[in-house]
Amino acid sequence: MSKPKKILISGAGLVGSLLSVLLGRRGYEVTIFERRADMRGVEVDSGRSINLALSSRGIHALEMAGLLDDVRDLLIPMRGRALHLSNGAEEFYSYGQREEELIYSVSRRDLNCLMMSAAEEAEAVKIRFNQSVEDVDFNAGELKVVDLTENESHRQSFDLLIGADGAGSPTREAMLAENGGESRVEFLDHDYKELEIPAGKSPDSEGGGFYQIEREALHIWPRGGYMLIALPNQNGSFTVTLFMPKHGENSFEQLKNSDQLNAFFEVEFPSAKRLIPDLESDFFSNAQGRLGTVRCSKWYFQNNALILGDASHAIVPFHGQGMNSGFEDCSELIRLLDKHEDNWNEVLPEFDQIRRPNADAIADMALENYVTMRESVADPKFQLKKELGFQLEQRYPERFVPRYSMVMFHRLPYAVAMQRGKVQQAILSELVAGIEDIAEVDFEKAGQLVQQQLSVVDLSRPY
Ligand SMILES: Cc1cc2nc3c(=O)[nH]c(=O)nc-3n(C[C@H](O)[C@H](O)[C@H](O)COP(=O)(O)OP(=O)(O)OC[C@H]3O[C@@H](n4cnc5c(N)ncnc54)[C@H](O)[C@@H]3O)c2cc1C
Repeated sequence: MSKPKKILISGAGLVGSLLSVLLGRRGYEVTIFERRADMRGVEVDSGRSINLALSSRGIHALEMAGLLDDVRDLLIPMRGRALHLSNGAEEFYSYGQREEELIYSVSRRDLNCLMMSAAEEAEAVKIRFNQSVEDVDFNAGELKVVDLTENESHRQSFDLLIGADGAGSPTREAMLAENGGESRVEFLDHDYKELEIPAGKSPDSEGGGFYQIEREALHIWPRGGYMLIALPNQNGSFTVTLFMPKHGENSFEQLKNSDQLNAFFEVEFPSAKRLIPDLESDFFSNAQGRLGTVRCSKWYFQNNALILGDASHAIVPFHGQGMNSGFEDCSELIRLLDKHEDNWNEVLPEFDQIRRPNADAIADMALENYVTMRESVADPKFQLKKELGFQLEQRYPERFVPRYSMVMFHRLPYAVAMQRGKVQQAILSELVAGIEDIAEVDFEKAGQLVQQQLSVVDLSRPY
């Protein structure tokens, strides 16, 4: 098979929707089977839409699909971290040092709806809702799908099947059973729960409200073993997420009733508590979500199946890269289709070979970043290293690029960002040992270390 006639995608989430736009525009006939009902046109409570951080890799893929101009209306820039420390102090630290070095808060639902509509604008793309993919017969090239409204199963033939059906991917499991490969799901000992800071209402405001805390920031209340974060929504509200251990001291299992919840928030997050009027109802009615990493030994089956996005590499959310890396899967797939003139026999193994090590790298960096967010950001030494990193980037922009910037503002392969990041971290640790102020840094030594240990990096050629 070089150019498949009929592509079926399992899952019209963020990744499946974007991929269908890209493949539809390339002239492929695509049908998506989505288990959920069509979320467009269904009202959600204002301020309840969950938001995500979008950064350069995701932006690049949206631009490739011709969607960026429309998506821009949904974005709120976040220029840095606003820290709410235990002593009541508030501090702001920029993510980058250039005007364009921002990340963006975007509503998952609005983005998904926009991409589904864009997909359906292409004649060649069809989305079928309430259709649950249950099994795959790879030899026959058939999918078993259950129509959830009729409760009837039907079979669909395909030339190429793409599994974009999330962390619990049925396509992945069917493919591995056939391939003999393996997948591992490593759950974190920490869960999460979503809460809300509503828009503020001034006495004379009618419809809309105002942002009660800085709009253009990702807010963090770091507390060592756990944390709260908040991202802005378009309507003036913030979606707040509590991340904490499932068991033990200061854990979800200890917050069983209103008294325990209120006492915990009063001691740990008093400033946030004042802004969350529905703390009790949010906390006790919202689901406690699990967090985990999926690693899978092979992402394709012969020349007729592929998995991508969370289906092949779900990660924990602490680097804000799950969706972004899934979108990068899509842009990379298109790059390889260009390179191999749509010969999928060549595209599938190369995609697997290129993407898997990078998925492993971002999975590891995302796990590391949990400690950074909940603990290190509050440490003056961390901020000293961050400042020094910016100074080294100014002095040696061709060699030293802070790891956060490599991941969020550039499109260097994640594995390269991780490897260079380790070298840079060792340089920073050596330079700040025994000092407390940037003025005390030995910049001559810094220059030598950078020149000796870091090769020139070409940011304009990501892969
Ligand atoms: C708390 C939290 C915060 C996050 N924050 C960020 C962030 O800031 N930035 C970021 O980049 N990423 C973030 N992520 C990660 C991001 O949400 C995921 O990486 C992204 O949603 C993956 O998209 P996907 O399309 O691969 O999978 P999903 O979004 O899970 O979509 C899968 C789709 O497949 C459908 N499906 C499932 N099973 C079947 C079936 N049997 N048949 C048919 N359809 C099926 C589902 O209904 C769904 O529509 C966060 C995740 C969490 C949990």
